Amino acid sequence: MPLGTVYLVGAGPGAPDLLTVRASKLLARSDIVFHDALVHPETLSLAARAEIVAVGKRCGRHSTAQRFICKRLVDAAQRHDIVVRLKGGDPMLFGRAQEELDALAAAGIEAEAVPGITAALGAASSLGVSLTRRGIARTVAFLTPRVGRGETASEWLPAALGADSIALYMAAGASASISAALVEAGKPAGTSVVLVENATLANESRTFTTLGALLAADLPRAEEPVVMLVGDVFRESARAAGNPLPEPATRRSA
Ligand code: SAH
Repeated sequence: MPLGTVYLVGAGPGAPDLLTVRASKLLARSDIVFHDALVHPETLSLAARAEIVAVGKRCGRHSTAQRFICKRLVDAAQRHDIVVRLKGGDPMLFGRAQEELDALAAAGIEAEAVPGITAALGAASSLGVSLTRRGIARTVAFLTPRVGRGETASEWLPAALGADSIALYMAAGASASISAALVEAGKPAGTSVVLVENATLANESRTFTTLGALLAADLPRAEEPVVMLVGDVFRESARAAGNPLPEPATRRSA
């Protein structure tokens, strides 16, 4: 029986036009699309002839177990030529892509990944702030303190301390304890933080603050995705937003 190919495709950070040409062409040719919760409806509409299946995982809500997703991809490749697994941002960053690639390889199914713009880079562009800057920032860390059940704790702190600019994924709900850990480990309390919610979308919002202000006041839990950006490169944009450091967190719309 001829087996199809499964493409792990990055849908980009939010805005539907932040999609690669390769991704767009694959969607148009696809027979079936399995997508995450964060994928924009306009992106899905590019898959005009495909069956569309939501397998999104948002903090445990509407969750389809990862093992079941892997099995569905394997099954779909036995029935279709072009199977697209559409993931938010870039598929190879915090997207459990390896589990899917391994399952496909074990079943003898061809797989290919198509990169996408990851949330932190989408957020940096909409803020108009370079994550690297001469004399201020030469290193960037992409990390998450979140670990799955049964996993050993993430060693995120040394990595965060070693980087000039830090992008934290799946972290907004724990921003107070993250800030406390960073300050306790020696990061200055005045270090700028920007929490970008719904980056690159029309309803993007930003909260400019500092580690010191954040550790004192836990923010309300966001319903929408938030990326937490930390570093001195954000100092001027925080000031321009009218929030002289280090005052408590204020929320502003884009
Ligand atoms: N593979 C994705 C990340 C998936 S993990 C990527 O490369 O972007 C999910 C986390 O990504 C969210 O908890 C949030 O931290 C971040 N995220 C995804 N989309 C976002 C958006 N539009 N705005 C802000 N953060 C986003």
